[in-house]
Amino acid sequence: MIPEAWRSGVVAVVGLGKSGVAATKLLVREGARVYASDASDHPYGGEAVAGLRGLSGVDVDVGRHDLAKIRSAAGVVVSPGVPPDAAPLTAARAAGVPVVSEIDLGFRALAGETRCIAITGTNGKTTTTALVAHLLRGAGLSAEAAGNIGRPLADIAISGDRYQWLAVEVSSFQLHDSPHFAPDVGILTNLAPDHLDRYPSVDAYYADKQLLFHNARARDVWVLNGDDRAALDLAGSAPGRRVLFSLKRQADGWYDASARRLQLGGEMLLARDELRLLGDHNVANALAAALAVRAAGVARDAIAEGLRSFRALPHRLEPVREVGGVLWINDSKATNIASTVVAVEAMSRPFVLLLGGRHKGEPYTRLAPLLEGKCRLVIAYGEAGPIVAQDLGGKVPLETGTTFADVVTRARRTARPGDAVLLSPACSSYDMFKNYEERGATFRRLVEAM
Ligand code: ADP
Repeated sequence: MIPEAWRSGVVAVVGLGKSGVAATKLLVREGARVYASDASDHPYGGEAVAGLRGLSGVDVDVGRHDLAKIRSAAGVVVSPGVPPDAAPLTAARAAGVPVVSEIDLGFRALAGETRCIAITGTNGKTTTTALVAHLLRGAGLSAEAAGNIGRPLADIAISGDRYQWLAVEVSSFQLHDSPHFAPDVGILTNLAPDHLDRYPSVDAYYADKQLLFHNARARDVWVLNGDDRAALDLAGSAPGRRVLFSLKRQADGWYDASARRLQLGGEMLLARDELRLLGDHNVANALAAALAVRAAGVARDAIAEGLRSFRALPHRLEPVREVGGVLWINDSKATNIASTVVAVEAMSRPFVLLLGGRHKGEPYTRLAPLLEGKCRLVIAYGEAGPIVAQDLGGKVPLETGTTFADVVTRARRTARPGDAVLLSPACSSYDMFKNYEERGATFRRLVEAM
């Protein structure tokens, strides 16, 4: 499962989180020698990285990458968290060293032992991946979420745990380096210009997404967004059966908005109110997951049952609690304007919006028309507070808060029964918190203490 050349040389593993640690162990098991490195002094892999030092044939570096060793490696395995323009990868590519993702390595090790539903797209990957794994398990199949969320494929490969199905979240960067990846079912949630900081053009980004279909076979099933021309075009003439989901018109899986029902063709799947996720974008995610697991043989009743019991992932439009008729919603994962737009569009109640954190450069003015008439108050805070106030002040009711606790107190004072309070900051969290998870957890704690 690894190239012969890798057994006679050294394979470099770049990035030592869970995936890099597992990839290193898998390579050792396959008889390769490994140079494993991470730029950070404290790699995410923690204790497990120290454990690698005891393995024979493994040379570990933390706090730096030895580019000379990487240039002379027989191959490079890259962890999901490493940006594609990171120095070790640029060096490897320039030296003609083949680079493959940890997903590709893990996939080859598991080939023939498990079937695979891959999820990619610009937005909704994580939610849809979690939905797919939940629906498969609910139907009594053994399944695991893997890739960007969940367990690294290489970790599953070395553990000996075997699942009937894996739900694998893959980013465009990983597809770029996954020449052997061949899922049985693939979901393309949607496509929008993204990562333009890392790609030279939109076309280059879409070209990587297109690699989902690279190894397509006639028996494969492709779940595509029928409302997204670019996503449909991307599949081109790839072999395999296409099934479409739509929020606008009848399709294999579609939303009948007037009857508020999710449909599988002519049959009702679920009433909208039974899906406990906010927003039409989540209806699209649910339909995509439903079609994928149906292709895996799950019956309609079991899909409906699974959708009923699925709850929002933490920090993604996650209802925390209703206090005095006010619903508090944690959408801390919304670190850009586009995500906050989606959240605001999902609001069916009047709401107070908590907006701020570390400014990322985009103006907030785009939010103004969406907030008018719906948003009771914007509370601007953090480093971005003055910019938010400048962009939205005078257009929507706005106050500026100080500490995060003060922001929550102000929201509580303003919200009336029947309202929502939405933390969807459109900014990163680094001015006040370690990361968006800590911001969301702080919000939850303050709400639970009310
Ligand atoms: P990803 O893993 O692709 O980043 P997530 O499921 O974590 O996706 O969702 C991240 C954000 O993307 C959400 O907070 C929401 O704003 C937006 N989003 C999720 N699903 C969709 C969708 N189907 N269409 C458009 N935007 C979406």
